[in-house]
Amino acid sequence: MNNKEFRSAAHEMIDYIVQYYDTIRDRRPLAAVEPGYLRPLMPSSAPTAPESFSDIMNDVERIIQPGMTQWMSPHFHAYFPSGNSLPSLLGDMLCGALTCVGFTWEASPACTELEVIMLDWLAQLIGLPDYFLATSPGSGGGVILSTASEATLIAMLAAKQRALKDCVGHQEKAKKAPLLVAYASEMSHSSVERAGLLSSVQLRLLPTDDTFALRGAALASAMKHDAELGLIPFCVIVTLGTTASCAFDSLQEIGEVCRGYSDVWIHVDAAYAGAAFVCEEFRGPMKGVHMADSFNFNPHKWLLVNFDCSTMWIRKSEEVVDAFRVDPIYLRRQHQANPEAPDYRVVHDGNAFNKRLLKRLNKEGDIHLVASEARGVYFLRVAVCSRFTESEDMEFAWRTIERTTSAMLAEEQR
Ligand code: PLP
Repeated sequence: MNNKEFRSAAHEMIDYIVQYYDTIRDRRPLAAVEPGYLRPLMPSSAPTAPESFSDIMNDVERIIQPGMTQWMSPHFHAYFPSGNSLPSLLGDMLCGALTCVGFTWEASPACTELEVIMLDWLAQLIGLPDYFLATSPGSGGGVILSTASEATLIAMLAAKQRALKDCVGHQEKAKKAPLLVAYASEMSHSSVERAGLLSSVQLRLLPTDDTFALRGAALASAMKHDAELGLIPFCVIVTLGTTASCAFDSLQEIGEVCRGYSDVWIHVDAAYAGAAFVCEEFRGPMKGVHMADSFNFNPHKWLLVNFDCSTMWIRKSEEVVDAFRVDPIYLRRQHQANPEAPDYRVVHDGNAFNKRLLKRLNKEGDIHLVASEARGVYFLRVAVCSRFTESEDMEFAWRTIERTTSAMLAEEQR
């Protein structure tokens, strides 16, 4: 597809989307197909010749749409809202076009900085304590993830790391880890139980009150019982808006109970209902949030943002850094310690000349490379990345590297 064909197909796509939303009310919310409905309607192997875009879109309407559960339908009342909006679709289109992968600040400065600023805005919008902001004096800040399940797992692993931080060596850790106990309500999402399994810790799912909320008293008695057995309470997952009935655990009471124990990590799972905290009048259940170590909610559920966008804030980002410390050379970078360019990695040393060369090439900006390392050899790595790259672009890259290297060698010999 060339640019001209793209323009025409994109118009066709927009028309299709508008027509889809215009007719959404008339579409069955639940697909009326049987398992295996699709295979007989599809060729048995991938087509060898291209088809026109219009033919493909006709197939979407004819064979894909009947098998779609219509999450956007006004008659869809299952699971949870999976909001999107027209501005969000446009944003997705732009993201798709720019296709940047922001795993470090250098990988795309605007990507990282926009994320940090947006997460500060969002934290302010839902009334989170200041310590969760990147602009606060501490090391707090927010990050965009794919799912709330991921956030719970990250919180539990970071909590585990905190609980084991004073252990010297592997053996001490291996002795203490089985004593760690995490807590959540029996009504918490299944991802909490899975996080417990993946973190290899004991998890207690505690009884709730008449409103299906976990209360301080139930937690206090479970923690006391465990402590008497020599176990170590280290993490509580508090659900604000349970999946089953949108119940709110008592964050305030739970926070007060945790104060009686040393360093218990409180993670708030507000995946479902967190968007409601945009409205000040709905913030009652957030009482006690100043005691939380991490907080998560899903803008893709209720904030009209396309799937997937799950946001997590952490009080002390270094605790997550410690839990996930890895250091591949291609992700090392110049601005690592800058709070405006946060990531979850650590700083390095290596081959001095190649490092200077890499720095200079990237500063000159005609090409962009990262370094790599294999069996102790540090080298500059040139990958063919763009679909627009031609042989002449590779020759240009080579000439640029050669010219800069020669210039640097000459300068150093002077
Ligand atoms: N926590 C709660 C309270 C939820 O309601 C859900 C999903 O509905 C999740 C966690 C899991 O969310 P995700 O699918 O983003 O992992």
